[in-house]
Amino acid sequence: MDKIEIATMKSSDINHVLGHIYDSVLENREGALADYIPELAKVEPDSFGMALATNNGRVYSIGDTETPFTIQSISKALNYCIALELIGRDAILARVGVEPSGDRFNAIEFDPRTLRPYNPMVNAGAITVAWILCNRLGNNAFDYILNRFSQAAGRQLVLDQNVYQSEFRTGHRNRAIGHLLLSAQAIEEPVDLALDVYFKQCSISVTAIDLAVMGATFANLGMNPITGKQVFDTTAVRNTLSVMFTCGMYDYSGNWAHDVGLPAKSGVGGGILGIVNRQLGIGTFSPRVDPNGNSVRGLASFKILSDEFGLHAFDPTNRGSGLVAHFFDH
Ligand code: GLN
Repeated sequence: MDKIEIATMKSSDINHVLGHIYDSVLENREGALADYIPELAKVEPDSFGMALATNNGRVYSIGDTETPFTIQSISKALNYCIALELIGRDAILARVGVEPSGDRFNAIEFDPRTLRPYNPMVNAGAITVAWILCNRLGNNAFDYILNRFSQAAGRQLVLDQNVYQSEFRTGHRNRAIGHLLLSAQAIEEPVDLALDVYFKQCSISVTAIDLAVMGATFANLGMNPITGKQVFDTTAVRNTLSVMFTCGMYDYSGNWAHDVGLPAKSGVGGGILGIVNRQLGIGTFSPRVDPNGNSVRGLASFKILSDEFGLHAFDPTNRGSGLVAHFFDH
């Protein structure tokens, strides 16, 4: 089909394209559940849902878009945005870089030039950001995070206690990373509180629709387009989307930027959150993940969505920001 700006498409046409993408991806059963967190191995492997939320508050969805799953690493992007707002860009950069690592999300390594984590989207960087939030907010850090995530989703979110307990019991590798950060003086005590917040932030329960609305909140310069509430600081959104674009899909980030061309973040729970700047939030959920930890069907859906709607940031048919359209088309 011709590439048309989503804002100008009829709802029936958008639903038609979503249905077509859903059908073409549904048969793909490649990948496996992330069973290194035992509780994640208990989810229904065949679940699949996809949702779009526009920056004027319309939501389109197909499949299992109200099935709860844990947000996992997608939480890293939201936390980074919150931390940028609370302590500022330079204070964060002193503790966590913005370079892609080219390694696995749970690699036990630092950037050798700085002895700091490569970026906030790998576990070492995210645990550092969790520590920054604990340092600023003390014992209230998790409640504060949950509240901000809920504002971005436009509804009250809850912690999945079973997944949290499972991560807490088995998160030895993350504990090793936390203690290595402490020994390298990248963070300070209390490391156990920071790890606890990290395990909890990953265990927040969301749906594909929640991810789409969170994405639309980012796309809409930090204002949730459904509730009308300003959730994130505008400058922090800009910096967060930059890191999502270069580092959001682990060691697949370069391929993703090339093929899909959107800032995005994935989680081993099977979710992917993508953003079309100033236009759209996209949320997908399908729990079978590839060796990089990215949802197989989610990845396939995003590739087709990006192609069919011309969403790639550098696609000539992507009209980009609504502001550009406003100033140059009239
Ligand atoms: N909680 C998971 C972990 O720390 C998150 C990883 C992910 O989603 N890639 O291992």
